[in-house]
Formats: sequence, structure tokens, C-alpha cells
Amino acid sequence: MTGAKRQMAMVMDLNKCLGCHTCSVACKTQWTKTQGREAMWWNTVNTMPGEGTPRGWESMGGGFHDAAAQPGEMPTTGGFGEAWEFNYDQVFSEGKGQEEHLQVVGDAPDWGPNWDEDEGAGDYPNSYHFYLPRLCNHCTHPACVAACPRKAIEKRESDGIVVINEERCNGYRFCMEACPYKKIYFNHAKQVSQKCIFCYPRLEQGVATACSRQCPGRVRFLGYADDEDGPIYKLVTQYKLAVPLHPEYGTQPNVFYVPPTGPMRLGEDGDVDESQPRIPDKYIEHLFGEAGLQALKNLEREKQIVQGGGKSEALDVLIAYKWEDMFGGFDRNPATIKWV
Ligand code: SF4
Ligand code: SF4
Ligand code: SF4
Repeated sequence: MTGAKRQMAMVMDLNKCLGCHTCSVACKTQWTKTQGREAMWWNTVNTMPGEGTPRGWESMGGGFHDAAAQPGEMPTTGGFGEAWEFNYDQVFSEGKGQEEHLQVVGDAPDWGPNWDEDEGAGDYPNSYHFYLPRLCNHCTHPACVAACPRKAIEKRESDGIVVINEERCNGYRFCMEACPYKKIYFNHAKQVSQKCIFCYPRLEQGVATACSRQCPGRVRFLGYADDEDGPIYKLVTQYKLAVPLHPEYGTQPNVFYVPPTGPMRLGEDGDVDESQPRIPDKYIEHLFGEAGLQALKNLEREKQIVQGGGKSEALDVLIAYKWEDMFGGFDRNPATIKWV
């Protein structure tokens, strides 16, 4: 399906993610502040293992197989989490700040983004969790494109970014059912589907995506997938340290992850137990397939090189000594541009 001449892509190193949500807020303040988008978070950061956003998205179906979009469930607004109203006036301007605490107005919510934040899994002292930032994967075989009867979703030829044409969108939401990553939202005010645009207006000016540029953990690498001098090619193709999430969905994502290693496991005597990892292999395999386990082996190979006194270009890329090296040439200062 692709048709794109080049493909923009992202790599996220899950070993560096702090779970700070700066990426989500950077996206929100840039793109989804307006009416109808109150509950939209094109970028989310969930604690894993966990239910994720929307709740239970991993078992909602969809995908791309046999050259066709596969049926899936439509996520609900409640599953994503509502944009709650808070009693700001009462606390901040009605003089009751000492008696009243900030709380949701109306019915108490029972779910929202990151409801299960930092819970994770496993038993003390070997409990574990890590953070998984997610956005639209700008897939090579986008199920959303295949599912839209209005041909309202396009995969851009120049850079492979998947965008929704709101003029053509009739709000049927077949795309929301088909996307196996459940990364499309419905704007109830405009009655159209909306999602991450990979910050294409910024990229077209040479500026990195907002979520990447603002990330304090230097987690989010960026660039063309075929740029042999760029970080994506090195981490995905050359050193095979970064892999797609749930490759079995069949859409061929262009967002890749360096899987998490987790801290060392502790034995009953409190000493380090190296016989097995803290994060179970079967969970890594569940998320990233066998390639995820191989990526962890490749990462270990690079660490051994450095521990043996050698030099690892792959680890140097991951460390990201200079932020400019993370973005494949998209390092222009946005303050130098007159935005229209
Ligand atoms: Fe479409 Fe979903 Fe892939 Fe994004 S992640 S391109 S919305 S199928
Ligand atoms: Fe939002 Fe841009 Fe990041 Fe997409 S690439 S999640 S639009 S900040
Ligand atoms: Fe924070 Fe970066 Fe992780 Fe987002 S990806 S939560 S900005 S560390």
C-alpha cells in the first residue's frame, strides 16, 4: 500500500523514558487545544504492563492482513478518558482554598489516561514497570487508510506521514475501528476524525516534532528511515536495537522502540539473581515479538564491547551526547521561524 518515496520515522529508547509526560503536553499545547479536542492526547505515555490508552487497546482488534484492513472495536470516549471539569473557581478565587481541595465536578470518574500509572506487575522485590510513549505509527500499510470509504486519509508520498483530510472525512470512524493501535480520536465539535500529524508543518521548516524536541530524557530520535547517517537507520537497520510495537498487527509501524532492560532481579537472599531478567522475556515478546528479544541481545552485545574497553557507535547514538544528533537534520530552532 505504501506508495511513499521516503519515510519519516521515530525511535524511542524505553530505557531512558522518565514517564514525565512532557511529550504529551508539548503535543497538546501545539495541536489539540481547541474545542472538540479537550480529551485528545495524540501522544500518550502509559505504564506497562497496564491497560493503556484507550483502556484495553491491545485486545480491541483491527490491523492489516491479506491486503485489507481488519475489523476491530471502536474505542469509546470513556475508554480514552474524558476531559474532566475541576472546581478551579472554588479553590482559586472563592476564598475556600484552605477548606476545599481540587477535585472533579460531578460524578467521580472511574477511568482516565494513566489511571494505572506506576502500578506495573510482578511481586516485591521483583515488581517491575516501564513507560511506553505512543503516537500514530504512520504505518507503511495503514489500516486506517484502507478502511476509509471516503479516501479521506492519505499517506504522503514525500515523507510517508499519514494525514486525515477533514474536508473529505464524513465521521464514519471506520478508521478508528481498523487502527489496531487505537490512535485516532473523534472530534465531536467538528464531527471528524483526528490524529497525530507527525508535526509535518514543523518538519517542512526543518524543525523536529514537538514531542521529540521537548523530551527531557532524549528518548525520541527522528529522521528519514533510509538516511544512513541518521539515527533511525543506525538503530533500526544497522544495529537492530529498535523494533516495532506489536508487529503481528500487520501495519508495519514506522515508530520503533529500544525495548526496556529493567533493573536486575533479586534472589530470595537479596543478592542479584542473573538467571532471569526482571521484565519477563514473555512480556517483551508479547509487545515486540521475537525481534524484541533479539534487540535486547544486540543491546547487551554493544554493552559488552564497551565493558571490554571498545567503542560502540550504537551506544553513542543512544546516549545522544548532542541533541542535534538525534533528529536527522531536523534541528532548526523554531524561534527563528515566522509561523503563519
Ligand atoms: Fe493509521 Fe493507526 Fe497506523 Fe496511525 S497507527 S497510520 S492511525 S493504522
Ligand atoms: Fe503530537 Fe507532533 Fe508528536 Fe505527533 S509527532 S504526537 S503531532 S507532537
Ligand atoms: Fe518524558 Fe520523553 Fe518519556 Fe515523553 S518520551 S514521558 S517527554 S521522558
